[in-house]
Amino acid sequence: MRRSDMITRLDQRREPWDMVIIGGGATGAGIAVDAASRGYDVVLLEQHDFGKGTSSRSTKLVHGGVRYLEQGNIALVMEALKERGLLRQNAPHLVSNLAFVVPNYDWWEAPFYGLGLKIYNALAGKYGFGASEILTREETLARLPTIKTDGLRGGVVYYDGQFDDSRLLINLVETAAEQGATLLNYVRVIAITKGPDGFINGVVAEDQETKQQWTIAARVVVNATGAFSDAVRRLAEPDVPTLIAPSQGIHLVFHHSFLAGESAIMVPHTSDGRVMFAIPWHGHTLVGTTDTPVETPTLEPRPLEEEIAFILETAGQYLLKPPTRDDILSVFVGIRPLVKSGQGKLTAALSRDHTIHFDPSGLLTTTGGKWTTYRNMAEHTVDQAADFARLAERPCVTRTLNVHGFHSNAERFGALSVYGSDALGIQELMHSTPSLAAALHAQLPYTGAEVVWAVRHEMARTVEDVLARRTRALFLNARAAEAMAPEVARLMAGELGWDESRQAAETAAFSTLARGYRVQ
Ligand SMILES: Cc1cc2nc3c(=O)[nH]c(=O)nc-3n(C[C@H](O)[C@H](O)[C@H](O)COP(=O)(O)OP(=O)(O)OC[C@H]3O[C@@H](n4cnc5c(N)ncnc54)[C@H](O)[C@@H]3O)c2cc1C
Repeated sequence: MRRSDMITRLDQRREPWDMVIIGGGATGAGIAVDAASRGYDVVLLEQHDFGKGTSSRSTKLVHGGVRYLEQGNIALVMEALKERGLLRQNAPHLVSNLAFVVPNYDWWEAPFYGLGLKIYNALAGKYGFGASEILTREETLARLPTIKTDGLRGGVVYYDGQFDDSRLLINLVETAAEQGATLLNYVRVIAITKGPDGFINGVVAEDQETKQQWTIAARVVVNATGAFSDAVRRLAEPDVPTLIAPSQGIHLVFHHSFLAGESAIMVPHTSDGRVMFAIPWHGHTLVGTTDTPVETPTLEPRPLEEEIAFILETAGQYLLKPPTRDDILSVFVGIRPLVKSGQGKLTAALSRDHTIHFDPSGLLTTTGGKWTTYRNMAEHTVDQAADFARLAERPCVTRTLNVHGFHSNAERFGALSVYGSDALGIQELMHSTPSLAAALHAQLPYTGAEVVWAVRHEMARTVEDVLARRTRALFLNARAAEAMAPEVARLMAGELGWDESRQAAETAAFSTLARGYRVQ
């Protein structure tokens, strides 16, 4: 998967593409996989790196959503539970089964949550991840050795999926490329073109590296830009009413010791009436999230002080050692592309269901949904897009399509397990060049071989691409990631031919970014 090859394809294309997809997050990449595997000619354009938006900033759960069950949205939960099962089947190297414990402090909680979580598991049918159980106090403590014991009566354990969001995204981009799609990062759609009939017939896109521009003709244009959907819709029709109510959620990452053990905590009712998770993730503890309406979405949203305080306070109510600001290794923020439903401001109550919307000019916008349901969302979108563009009808094949890297026993690759079958290639690099096998930082497992791999095979273009999305260093420990940046830039320079001033500029740009992921 080489960027230069993708650019050549764009340069050489003479006839219209079947589909142009704007946006390289879960939604866009999922559509590219679906459309290309049906045999349509597609090009996907992402203005920054693949996964730069919300799709690298989720809570990392592949889940039905216990909260939506509480809201009575049975259809959404059932659909998500099925997709959870399909995703584990098609990308087992990235999706794992995680035990979640709901700690009980009141007498009524065990029967109440016990019954609810039994229903949750029953709704999964043959896609179940494991039966829920009521735990005694001792069993709860055995699973959550660092939970507060004052007043603890017991707990309820249930099972859901966990994943690495940006690794899945990169693997989806690779899957789409293998199916024949053309995908480009750092190419921004700057205009939408219309034919004499007033209907959309393509886009104008600009390479953010070289400023080269293309006018790209397409039978249908799919807007998969998440929280940015309205801005792209306005490129076609400046006066369209907005569709999205953006809402941000933050996560704090701490040392693993705050949540020792292998189970997660699910707090079913925080003081603001939401759920909160504390999850073991890549050897760290991840806690989140919040739901705060935002005016204008940006690519690097910032946490609010009150959001940080709220998560620290809630975590402190449950953890033996209450985390403080000084313990925060990284804070990251994502923006939900929630679809507006009438009036009202409380974004927590808006639907997580996806929406497919046609503007009068023929622009198809697909948004909402969640990571877990990206495949299903893509299937619906491609059905609609193909119908609208009168493309030859072809059935969806993604229910049983393996995602790039598919490996049914990837745990045996240890720290490289997220690469699935690609781990073998990275191991080979380590053998042929032993200096690439050393960890780049004592507190993180990442090696030089992964940097080289990311550039050669995963279209990484900047230090940030490597440290934020090909590896997860920035999201796990912002200071450690910053310390790794000069060596990552040096290794990338060897692959991409950067001179010293470019290396220094890349390192400096990353340091500035990384400071936004620290709180002190
Ligand atoms: C805090 C939080 C936690 C979440 N946790 C979970 C979870 O645990 N499990 C789950 O299933 N779901 C979760 N979600 C939901 C899930 O992350 C999102 O639904 C999903 O990532 C949305 O993907 P997307 O592709 O629509 O948007 P994005 O990932 O934001 O992608 C849109 C892309 O479009 C690009 N773009 C914008 N304008 C242009 C342009 N002009 N030209 C080219 N490209 C452009 C952007 O750069 C961006 O990369 C969470 C969401 C949030 C906010």
